[in-house]
Parts: sequence; structure tokens; C-alpha cells
Amino acid sequence: MNFVTELDVKGRLVFLRVDFNVPLDEGGAIRDDTRIRASLPTIGWLLDHGARLVIASHLGRPKGKVVPAMSLGPATKRLAELVPYKVAMAPDVVGDEVRRLKRALGEGEALVLENLRFYKEEEKNDPEFARQLAEDVDVFVNDAFGSSHRAHASVVGIAAYVPVKAAGYLMKKEVDYLKKAVHTPEKPYVAILGGAKVSDKIEIIESLLGKADQILIGGAMSYTFLKAQGLGVGTSLVEEDQLEVALVILDKARTSAVSFHLPQDHVLARSPEGGTETKVVESLPFPEDMMGVDIGPKTVEAYAAVIAAAKTVFWNGPMGIFEIDEFAQGSIGVAKAIAESNAVSIVGGGDSAAAVKKAGVRDKISHISTGGGASLEYVAYETLPGITALEN
Ligand code: ADP
Ligand code: MG
Repeated sequence: MNFVTELDVKGRLVFLRVDFNVPLDEGGAIRDDTRIRASLPTIGWLLDHGARLVIASHLGRPKGKVVPAMSLGPATKRLAELVPYKVAMAPDVVGDEVRRLKRALGEGEALVLENLRFYKEEEKNDPEFARQLAEDVDVFVNDAFGSSHRAHASVVGIAAYVPVKAAGYLMKKEVDYLKKAVHTPEKPYVAILGGAKVSDKIEIIESLLGKADQILIGGAMSYTFLKAQGLGVGTSLVEEDQLEVALVILDKARTSAVSFHLPQDHVLARSPEGGTETKVVESLPFPEDMMGVDIGPKTVEAYAAVIAAAKTVFWNGPMGIFEIDEFAQGSIGVAKAIAESNAVSIVGGGDSAAAVKKAGVRDKISHISTGGGASLEYVAYETLPGITALEN
């Protein structure tokens, strides 16, 4: 994989894929510009070296339609405040006007395209759309690690139409870190998995079975595993269409060398809100009108002991509904255990990073990845579609 600083970009049209997927408030103002700032090293280097720079990103889930509230306008404005270069906003992603603006770009000038996902062709990796993105482009740079597990047109498809490809600073930093910890992890290697997006994650666990020494499960995912074994989990979040996958994983875990841990106790509530009655249970079934909202104290203790002995820890997905203080103890306990261990620790995912922050141990984590799904897939498969695209 090339790194951007190895290239000669002077006078060249560079297409840079970034992650400007920033949170906006109701008035459309940027609530947190961390992601824009994170891409400044790459943008700054390219403009300093005379690139004619086209910048592209998605924002939110407009699902193939133009949604003005998801425009990249505010992000473009913020970028223009942060760099001492001319930054313009394109009215569209592709088309005649965009083509004209691209060709008119001077050295050290940037043009930000509209939200890539205003076109359904982006997520479908449509070859014609990818070709249009690549039109007149000399160099493709990907700095959007957090989107690189998706085979989308701006991540994968475009690479086929551009002769020179490279990773940006953010991408390189992520890959360097994850590579070290994942290809040759110091043992014991402990993977901790939780969160809500079960369907995204459950199959990935399968590939971790052969790599990690211990897998600790928490979050909503636990209930899919428990229900798959025929246990009643009340109103807990369960993905019914993943029950079979869950059974297969449990089966494989039994015959593999990995120790696979499910929570031993659970915090239950009647609804996913604070200020309601909660109770801790060890046995199943759960009462029919209650749901699991966090791992219990016994589980925290058991998981902390496993983490204390680890040399490498990878964590993706909170142990409970940590946004609500009463249901945050499991995630905070795990975060603190990771912070106290001597292991190389990698935390991936926006919510997991927020849980680490809530526990006040952010500076005790070796690497906090910007990509949740992307870091998980990298750890499992040791590459990502967006990385392979840069290498071919
Ligand atoms: P990340 O952003 O770190 O990749 P996810 O987005 O997959 O993590 O999961 C985070 C979400 O999972 C949080 O919003 C949290 O409230 C939710 N969650 C965790 N445990 C549960 C649970 N038991 N029931 C419902 N939601 C849960
Ligand atoms: Mg999340």
C-alpha cells in the first residue's frame, strides 16, 4: 500500500475520500468537528504540495436521495476555516457542473463534492458512477478508514479507474496499529464484543474464534446467544434472524481452543430508560416483561480477571446501554479493567470510544480506532475491501 507522501501530486487532480460524517444539531450546525480535524494532515499535505484536490465523503443515511439537511455544506465551511487554502463546495457529486469545476481547479485549491450517498449508486458500488467519480482524476487517496469495510463506489469501485492510489495519514495510522496488534498479537489475546448491531458483528466472531484466546460477550448480542440456546430473555433486544448463526458459533466455540464467555449475571429493566426499577439476575429465563440492559457485577469481575492477564485486548461494542448512567457500570468496569492491564489495547467504534471517555480512561488505551465496523472487520479478516482496492 502506497502512502500519500510518497507521491508527486503537483498539478495533479487528486480524489480524496475522507470521513466528514460529522454529527449535526437540529439547526444544521456541526456538534463535533473531530472527524474534519482528523483529516487535516492529509488535506494539508496534498494542498501544500500543489494538488488540485477533490474531497468526497458521505454524511448520514440519505439512502440515495438528496436530503438538504445532510448536505456537506456545513463541513465544507468548517474546513475552509481550518486550512489557509481556497475551498469551494460543489453543487453535486457528478455531472457537467462538477466536471467543469474539477477541470478549473488550480494547484493548492480544494473542491468538496456533495454527499456521496445522495446517489444510491454509491452504496451499490455502481461501476458507471465510480467511473464518473474517477473522471479526470490522476490520484486516488483514501483516508476514510471508518468506511473502508464497505465496498462502495468511492472506496472500492473508483480504484479500478485511477492509475495511482495511496493511503492518507489517518488510514495509515489505523492500519499500522491494527496490523501490529492483530497479525502478530502477544498472547493471551482477548477480544471483547458487545453493542447493539448484532447482525453486523455476529458472523465476524466466527473468524475471531481461530485467533483470540478468550472472547468476552456483552451488550445486546448476549441475548441472541442466550435465546439461541432456548433460554427466555424477556423483552431483550434479540435479532431473530441471527439465532441460527449464533448456534453455529456456540458450536464452533465448543470445539475450538478459544474460551467463549457469555455474561453470568444481568441487569434487567422494564424499559430502556433511567429512573425505572432494575434488578440483577443470574438465572434464566428473565421475567417476561423485563429486558437485559447491562452485564451484572459478577460478570464484570470475571471479565476483569481475564483482561488483567491479557497481553493484547481488542474491544468493540459497549456491554450495556451505557448512555444511561444506571446501565453503564458494565462498560465502565470493562474500560477500567483494560486501562489497568498491561496489555496493548485497541478500542474500536464510536460508542465504545464514548464509553471509554465516560470511564475517564481514554489516555490509558493504546489505540482508539475511528472505525467501529471497520476495525472489527480488519481484526477478523486482516484486511478491508478499501485497503485491497488500494493495493491492486
Ligand atoms: P460501537 O459504536 O462501539 O461500534 P455499537 O454501535 O455496535 O458500538 O453499539 C452501541 C450501542 O449498543 C449503544 O447505543 C448501546 O446503548 C447499545 N446497547 C448495548 N447493550 C445493549 C442492550 N443490552 N440492549 C440494547 N442496546 C444495547
Ligand atoms: Mg455505534
